[in-house]
Amino acid sequence: MYIKDILSLHSSFKEVRLNNRFFKHEDIIALIKKLPATFKVKEAGKSVKGLSIHTIQWGNGPVKVMLWSQMHGDEATGTMTLFDLFNFLQSDHESVTLLANNCTLLFMPMVNPDGATVFTRRNAQQIDINRDYLQTLTPEAKILKQCRDDFEPHFGFNLHDQNTLWSVKGSRKPATLSYLAPAYDEALSVNDTRKNAMLVITEMFKHLNLVLPQQISLFDNEFEPRAFGDNFQKKGTSTILIEAGGYQNDFEKQEIRSFYFASILTGLISIASSSYQNQNTDSYFSIPQNTKQIFHILIKNIAINGIKTDIGINYEEKPYLNGLGTEKTYFIEDIGDLSYCDAYTVYHTENQSIEGDIVFNQNASFKLYSDQNLILSFTDGKLQ
Ligand SMILES: [Zn+2]
Repeated sequence: MYIKDILSLHSSFKEVRLNNRFFKHEDIIALIKKLPATFKVKEAGKSVKGLSIHTIQWGNGPVKVMLWSQMHGDEATGTMTLFDLFNFLQSDHESVTLLANNCTLLFMPMVNPDGATVFTRRNAQQIDINRDYLQTLTPEAKILKQCRDDFEPHFGFNLHDQNTLWSVKGSRKPATLSYLAPAYDEALSVNDTRKNAMLVITEMFKHLNLVLPQQISLFDNEFEPRAFGDNFQKKGTSTILIEAGGYQNDFEKQEIRSFYFASILTGLISIASSSYQNQNTDSYFSIPQNTKQIFHILIKNIAINGIKTDIGINYEEKPYLNGLGTEKTYFIEDIGDLSYCDAYTVYHTENQSIEGDIVFNQNASFKLYSDQNLILSFTDGKLQ
C-alpha cells in the first residue's frame, strides 16, 4: 500500500467524536462500548481516581503487538489515532486481513485518564508514570507493566507527543514526527530486540518521509532506566516510540494525526508482512536527529536599544482548570544572532519597529509595527 493511499484512508476512518486534544475518559469509554465483538475489551485496572483503564485485543495471528497511549495526560494524539485505527480495523480493506491473520494486537488507550481530565502530563499523585517503571508507585504504571508481562508482546508501540519546539537537524523545520528504538542499557547496545524496532522504524520513515520531507527525526537516544520503553526493550519487546510534535497551524494535532495514523499502520503492516526484515540499521542511524533550532515566533533584523538584531519568542501552554483548553504565555526566549534558526511565524519586513521593552527571559509585552501598521501585540505574555 502506498503512503498516499493510507493518508486518504485516514480521512474516511477518522473518529469524528475526538476532534481536539481535550477529550476525556468518558468520551473514550463511549467509543469502547460501541466496539464490535471482534474487539475483546477487558478492564485492566483503575487509575488513582478510580477511572477504568482497558485493554482491547484484536486479531488472531502469532505476532503479538502491544500499543499504549497517553501515559502523559496532555499527549492525546496517540489515543485519537488508536480510535481511528479501530474504525479502520472494522473495514474490509485487504490490509485488515493481513493484520488479523498475522498479528494479535493489544491496545491500552489513555493509560493516564486522571491526567487527561485536567490535561496534565502527570497522574493524580503528581508522578510522571513514564519515570515510574522501577518503583511502580502509581497504579497506572503497575497496570501497564503487568499487561506487558502477561501478554509478552514481540513488538510495542509507545505513543507520545513531544514539545513543538523540537526541529529536525539540518532542515530547521518542526519535527512533526520523531521515532526512537529506546536503548536498554547505558552503552546504547543493539541486540536483536532493539534491532527489530529500528528496522520497523526505518520502514515507517521510508514511507512517511515521502509526505513529510525533512520533518521527521530520531528522538534523543539516551538510556532512561526509569522509563517504560527502555525497560520493555530490555525485557524482549521490540519497542517503538512515536512522538507527535509540531505542524504549521495545527494546534489541535488534527493534521499530524493523519501522519501518526500512517506511521502506526505502515509499522504494523511491515510487522505483519515481515517487510521490515529487508531494512538495515545503517538506514535507521541515517535518520536525522532531533534538535532545537526553531521558535514559535521569530522577529528578524529589528532595532532595539540602538542595534539591529533578532528576537526569538516561544510560548508555554498551561491548562485551564476545567482541562478543556490551554492558555498560552509568550516570553522572550532569545535575543541576538538567530540567523541559523527558523520559526512557525517569521516577521522580517522592511521598516519594522517595536514599541515597548524587550526583556530577555521575561513575558513578551510589546507592539510590532510594519510601517505604521500594527502586526503583532503582546500584553504581559498574552497575544492580543
Ligand atoms: Zn510523553
